[in-house]
Amino acid sequence: MQFVSTRGQAGSVSFSEAVSQGLAPDGGLYLPSEFPDITPFLFEWENMSYSELCFSYFRLFATDINENTLREIVEDSYSQFSHNEIAPIVSLDENLKVLELFHGPTLAFKDFALQLLGNLYEEQIKKSGRDLTILGATSGDTGAAAIAGLLGKKGVTVFILFPDGKVSPLQERQMTCSASDNVFPLAIEGTFDDAQRAVKEIFSDLEFKKKVGLSAVNSINLARILAQSVYYLFAWLKLEKEDRLNTTFVVPTGNFGNVFAGWLLTKMKLPIKGFQVATNQNDVLHRLFKYGQYSLSEVTQSLAPSMDIQIASNFERLLYFILDGDTQKLTQIMAIFAKEGKYRFDNFQVDGFSSSSVSDDEIPEIIRNVQDNYDYLVDPHTACAFKDLKNSEKYLILATAHAAKFPDVYETASLPQPKSAILEELKEKKSVKFSICCDAVAIRSFIEDKIS
Ligand SMILES: *Cc1c(COP(=O)(O)O)cnc(C)c1O
Repeated sequence: MQFVSTRGQAGSVSFSEAVSQGLAPDGGLYLPSEFPDITPFLFEWENMSYSELCFSYFRLFATDINENTLREIVEDSYSQFSHNEIAPIVSLDENLKVLELFHGPTLAFKDFALQLLGNLYEEQIKKSGRDLTILGATSGDTGAAAIAGLLGKKGVTVFILFPDGKVSPLQERQMTCSASDNVFPLAIEGTFDDAQRAVKEIFSDLEFKKKVGLSAVNSINLARILAQSVYYLFAWLKLEKEDRLNTTFVVPTGNFGNVFAGWLLTKMKLPIKGFQVATNQNDVLHRLFKYGQYSLSEVTQSLAPSMDIQIASNFERLLYFILDGDTQKLTQIMAIFAKEGKYRFDNFQVDGFSSSSVSDDEIPEIIRNVQDNYDYLVDPHTACAFKDLKNSEKYLILATAHAAKFPDVYETASLPQPKSAILEELKEKKSVKFSICCDAVAIRSFIEDKIS
């Protein structure tokens, strides 16, 4: 299987190459060059464990990795999850189910991809003998999950930019208390989008990229998208047969990575009814699906900080399909968007998507209502999914984080603060972070200094 860039100027590459590059050299994002029809496998996949299913799915794409090695990598990646089903489904009522994606080491769904990515990198370094430098920007959870997935991996040095003061104190501790000498958490002044922009700029410096073996752990990395498809598939297979065709997945969304990973399965003919894109007050995607206008506005800090994003990088992948693979047109649109901060589509229509947006005032209220109605505690990101749901429809809500990660909101909801043992332990540990100016030159020189 080969992988191509959304901007059409990068040539096709193998799975391992696409994963180690992260962003394609033409500035685009990698996608599989073809999509297998997975429907013939579904019967066989139905009763598989999570890691068996993940292996079977990845085998279709990671064709340049030895099968036994791939099996070991996958098994190891889900060995640190605290729930034996890995991604359990909880029924709230007849029509409403929750897919819990927070049983990994950092208590957010990003562990699903980043535990795997850490092992894929390690395998690659073993094979190629070339060390890798990982650079990423985070609104909190990616950084924590990346560090947990990469700490102590041989040949990997990790640099994670985060907006100082804008991630939750617990997220900050997850990033800064790893006590691992291959990990550098960089605190920048500004927003997640500022951090992401600096990262993109550094990635576009191809000479530097090559020199330090730069790779990305943001959801621009293809391995993340493919790894995240697996829990949609796993959940779909766990649904009652009559529910499979009429259940909508509701996905708390920032960068469009998670929801895109699910949608990709429809390109492989999995008959998923639809996706509800659930945003917080940073509603660029809601406005896109509602009005066809993709336009930036100021990022505002919300109670669901991991979704405080305006530039939804993975939208580019969807756009590729909307434009029927017209990479020239896509490059044009992205250039206009980069320059003007907006793009208006005439007739923006993508089947299978709906959207919603939740303000900060509503989040504690929703948390309270869900607790009262279903005796179930959601985190502020997952809370955003409980909006604009129709009474007679069936939904599967993706619970993206454990409530204990964002304890501050519960007082407003008149609920006790949730706790988690893993997070309590972190409070005892020493925290180390590096304050740095959010500027490509400064960051590049910091990286070079640390890896030399
Ligand atoms: C990252 C994150 C999201 C948003 O995911 P995207 O892939 O950016 O859409 C939602 N909820 C939580 C808890 C997250 O960590």
